[in-house]
Amino acid sequence: MKGCDRQMRTNESIKVPDSTRAVMSLLEEAGFECFVVGGYLRDTLLGRATFDIDLATSATPEDVMRSLSRYVVIPTGLRHGTVTVLTTDGSIEITTFREDGMYSDFRHPDVVRYAKTIEEDLARRDFTINALAWNEKRGLIDPWDGQSDLKKGLIRTVGDANQRFREDALRILRGLRLSAELSFQIEERTSDAMRSCAQLLKHVARERLQVELNRLLIGENALSVMQGYVDILSVVIPELSILDDCAPSPLNVAFLRASSMGRDIPLRLAALLCDLENALEILKRLRYDNATIDRVEKLIAFQSEKLFPEKRSVWRGLYRYGQKDFLDGMRLRVAGERAHANIQGIVAPSAPADTAVSPTTAAIAQIADDLIRRNRILELKDLAVNGHDLLGRGYRGQEVGAMLEILLEKVCVDDFPNERESLLAAIDSKSEN
Ligand code: ATP
Ligand code: MG
Repeated sequence: MKGCDRQMRTNESIKVPDSTRAVMSLLEEAGFECFVVGGYLRDTLLGRATFDIDLATSATPEDVMRSLSRYVVIPTGLRHGTVTVLTTDGSIEITTFREDGMYSDFRHPDVVRYAKTIEEDLARRDFTINALAWNEKRGLIDPWDGQSDLKKGLIRTVGDANQRFREDALRILRGLRLSAELSFQIEERTSDAMRSCAQLLKHVARERLQVELNRLLIGENALSVMQGYVDILSVVIPELSILDDCAPSPLNVAFLRASSMGRDIPLRLAALLCDLENALEILKRLRYDNATIDRVEKLIAFQSEKLFPEKRSVWRGLYRYGQKDFLDGMRLRVAGERAHANIQGIVAPSAPADTAVSPTTAAIAQIADDLIRRNRILELKDLAVNGHDLLGRGYRGQEVGAMLEILLEKVCVDDFPNERESLLAAIDSKSEN
């Protein structure tokens, strides 16, 4: 294990922004304890960029509001003892030390009890690497040996894994998300318990699942997590098992395709789900917003769009989808072709990401690139004539828009001059025919 130890920052490198320090000082001056906890410490020790700061305190939410009266404090999660403080550097979540009670529904503790010490609070946290606390006075507090797991790159639950996942099944997906984000391995017992408790994810609110799924999908190590934990992902998206039936598995194509996209959630979702008939239903079920669903729908529709490697066909595609969706749709096509070829052993996974596999797709991409570079992706408003000109020449209703589009295509594809006189002459001669 020694060989894969990670380079870690020292405890001395832990620094918090002045705005956070000011909040911590106010609570301390009022006689309470206050610690930085959670992802901020984990990511700082790993030398990763981190923004979100979570604080844990012995003060109750009412005490926090009283002590921080000069700040805007929003009671964001009073039931869990959480308030959010707005500072010049952003917002800070402050949660009162807690020990969770029984969980009878696999997601919410029946009662939340405040705890007296930070050690009790750390014991209810999900993973050892998240169960660290720090303040200037006491330095780093690490009762669960989280630093050693950080060094080894391991995700391990605090305490008995089965019990922790039975208390709150979302932790299973959080564990996969952390593994995808940090490229950490999941410790064996934790991993076994994840699999045996996976069905409990059905009890977890879908909005919460969505948040973790998004982060998993764009994680650096997403591919190996998806490949290694199909059984768990299939509880969240049961339709994935339809793709897992034949060999070579279309599911692996979907995973490869998804992991080769940029850190763009709709694009990754489209890449994962575009071979399924009910992709949009899946997204609705997982409570995705309409903007995401619309974009995924467009990207998936693009996959079955008939495009030919000639200027007119490519231009029409660009015009209909818009440049951004067209290019993203093409990336998806290329990624799909590459994924198929990878699985059949035709191209190495290490080949450049935008290597198009089929000559047709390559030619379409080339033509699109050329049209864009030559500034041929104009809109109706860029045309030197407008609807009024056509109305004046006897065109009515839908004819107007249709004729403008014909003119636009002439300009963009046939390099017809975009000049008022020439365009009007073209119209006149047409209406005379
Ligand atoms: P990031 O901010 O990068 O998402 P994080 O670890 O800070 O990572 P948060 O969701 O902000 O994640 O949670 C803050 C801390 O609260 C976690 O580090 C963990 O200690 C604890 N925590 C969050 N969710 C759970 C949970 N479901 N069960 C137990 N502890 C949790
Ligand atoms: Mg956080």
